[in-house]
Amino acid sequence: MSQSSAEPVPSVPAAAAAEGVSAEEWSDWRWHMRHRITTLAQLRRWIEVTQEEEAAIAGCKGRYRWSITPYYASLMDPQDPACPVRQQAVPAPGELVADPTADVDPVGDRYFRKTNRVVHKYPDRVIMLITEACPVYCRHCTRKFHTTDVSGSYFRDNEGEDYEEDFRYIEEHGGIRDVLLTGGDPLSYRDEKLEAIISRLRAIPTVEIIRIGSRFPVLLPQRITPALCEMLERYHPIWLNTHANHPREVTPQFAAAVDRLLRHGIPVGNQSVLLKGVNDSVTTMRTLMTELVRARVRPYYLYHCDDVTGVSHFMTSVQKGWEIMEGLQGHITGFAVPQYVLTTRLGKIPLNPPSHIQRDDALELHNYRGEHLVLGPDGRPKGPAETPA
Ligand code: SF4
Repeated sequence: MSQSSAEPVPSVPAAAAAEGVSAEEWSDWRWHMRHRITTLAQLRRWIEVTQEEEAAIAGCKGRYRWSITPYYASLMDPQDPACPVRQQAVPAPGELVADPTADVDPVGDRYFRKTNRVVHKYPDRVIMLITEACPVYCRHCTRKFHTTDVSGSYFRDNEGEDYEEDFRYIEEHGGIRDVLLTGGDPLSYRDEKLEAIISRLRAIPTVEIIRIGSRFPVLLPQRITPALCEMLERYHPIWLNTHANHPREVTPQFAAAVDRLLRHGIPVGNQSVLLKGVNDSVTTMRTLMTELVRARVRPYYLYHCDDVTGVSHFMTSVQKGWEIMEGLQGHITGFAVPQYVLTTRLGKIPLNPPSHIQRDDALELHNYRGEHLVLGPDGRPKGPAETPA
């Protein structure tokens, strides 16, 4: 990955060049949105589709949406069905297996929904689900019921223009100081529509910060245009959290998009999801977190994969999550270690591995190398600590 802040020269991948795609088209996010891969024939231009993938694509018809940007397709390994990028984007048979414990909405968006778009779980902040549209429909999406599931549309007015009810809710609940724009992916909207939403929010005196949850830096970094960044900068403080799950996604184009955001004063964080077969190894996660920090992206959360209908095949055990967290904590820079969390109807609950054991009136602590220290109830060491070898 390049550390340079200079714009990478857009090089058109061979599969696109063979179709006559120009460098100008490849660097234009709207071209990618117009040319998203939505058919088997189009997908075959990028990868050798397996029988399982073909069957899953057929099975998803009328059930789950799928689309892939040419940019994200260019990151896929054409020969390897276990490719971590491919698994996140190409339908798999596991999506169609009914899991009795899975739920379409395990995080409770529907339960906490107060208006068409506002979900209010915590006293001082809300999320606004402003669109169902995404550049790629990720197979592991927590909100699969209103992004990918064609039968579970969330919006009662088909994403109409009228947001006043949503803004009024925020105005009338004066304790709301933090609004997270999410969806779907808010950056699917053109700049003008996004600006209309953000400027109206900024006019609400109690709203201190506006956050954007967007996977565009990963799925289509060309979307992070200078014009978008200049628009966002007018409404500070704006924060953006993106969603990279594998080091293969941390490309020079990703780093350049992050650089543009940072140069306009927009801090960038990352939320990963722990996905079986994609990133459930210490080595992969260490590389991901250190590569993100090299790109000046702060790892924020590592989500335990929710038991969402159509997503259960990506779930790992909490034990696996602890093994990974123990492989990060102490082994890499402290701020490169995300917080391991589970999203529930009760809110986000930290799932970090226990670092201590309570023994009568003492706390036994261990460090990343397994060395021990015993603390009394006053927080002072009891007895000699183990001396590192
Ligand atoms: S971009 Fe985000 S909201 Fe859209 S499908 Fe992917 S994970 Fe879900």
